[in-house]
Amino acid sequence: MTLSWTHLTSDGAARLGRVHTAHGDVETPVFMPVGTAGTVRAMTADAVRSTGARLILGNTFHLMLRPGADRVEQLGGLHRMMDWPGPILTDSGGFQVFSLAALRTLDGDGVTFRSPHDGSPHRLTPESSVGIQRQLDATITMAFDECTPFPATWDEAGKSMELSMRWAARCRAAFVPRPGYGLFGINQGSVFADLRARSAEALAAIGFEGYAIGGLAVGEGQDKMFEVLEGVVPRLPADRPRYLMGVGTPDDLLGAVARGVDMFDCVIPTRAGRTARAYTSAGVFNLRNARFAGQDRPLDEACPCPLCARHSRAYLHHLFRCEEMLGPMLLTWHNLQYYQDLMAGIRAAIATGRLDAHAAAVRARWSQGDTQ
Ligand SMILES: [Zn+2]
Repeated sequence: MTLSWTHLTSDGAARLGRVHTAHGDVETPVFMPVGTAGTVRAMTADAVRSTGARLILGNTFHLMLRPGADRVEQLGGLHRMMDWPGPILTDSGGFQVFSLAALRTLDGDGVTFRSPHDGSPHRLTPESSVGIQRQLDATITMAFDECTPFPATWDEAGKSMELSMRWAARCRAAFVPRPGYGLFGINQGSVFADLRARSAEALAAIGFEGYAIGGLAVGEGQDKMFEVLEGVVPRLPADRPRYLMGVGTPDDLLGAVARGVDMFDCVIPTRAGRTARAYTSAGVFNLRNARFAGQDRPLDEACPCPLCARHSRAYLHHLFRCEEMLGPMLLTWHNLQYYQDLMAGIRAAIATGRLDAHAAAVRARWSQGDTQ
């Protein structure tokens, strides 16, 4: 039996569920920390686990270039290589090939590109992307799609979406079903409701273990993103998990869960952690700000992470000022803890049918700010 999802309960459009995988179960809605190159940057695998994270993301594009899919396979797959026995979702390489690779050439069959590291030639097709993700031992394989540029005209977005749908069918044919493993299709169509609807129909006809929504959080703004979700989410098969790719801020997560999204990934908490930006129950702070220099109290009283449990804001400010690597390590840990606790709070609220009130309280606390 392939990867499956149990719908436990709903609160409005928000859903509480459980994904069953070969590498364990995961409660949804879930946030996946991003482990780009076989590591969640600045974190040990134990530290990632301690935050409550149960599902992480790996990047096909980065891993196929360094250390190479053959090498990861030789080292026992991504789970063993990075000491993460839990489930791993890998992206298809599509997004990075369109945003990072030099000299890329798109044809109907796939994409040829040069490595940004050494200029060596590489090629990704729907078949090779699925094959590489199998070598990585991805629990969840993502379909290889074209990343539609934003903004795009209706014609451009339509052509791009139709190409991605043809590729989605080829990914389905290339994917070898294994117990507890799954393949997710990706809905495209930019900000155009009719294209999103056609894409949803095409994906459902092919059939996937889960359905992702791609091509959002690319500059369209939160209002537009929520409008697209309201149009497309009800068109995705109700008995499968829905994954909003590359999203987002804590406020994006609250809003997207309320619109029926079950899974998220984003670099925000880890990237912000390396640049002194702290996500807390009282909003976002920049720890480089001089006002923190003398504050001998935890960053976030409500947080159980080692930074908040053992160190002061003043110490963290000092670490960033001195560019000590412990600063990014501790703040990445804290930000991931904040995101996991946010999702745990959301799940508890859905379970008791009070997501709206919970979201309003969380937002009120953010806007109240740092009152001490
Ligand atoms: Zn903390």
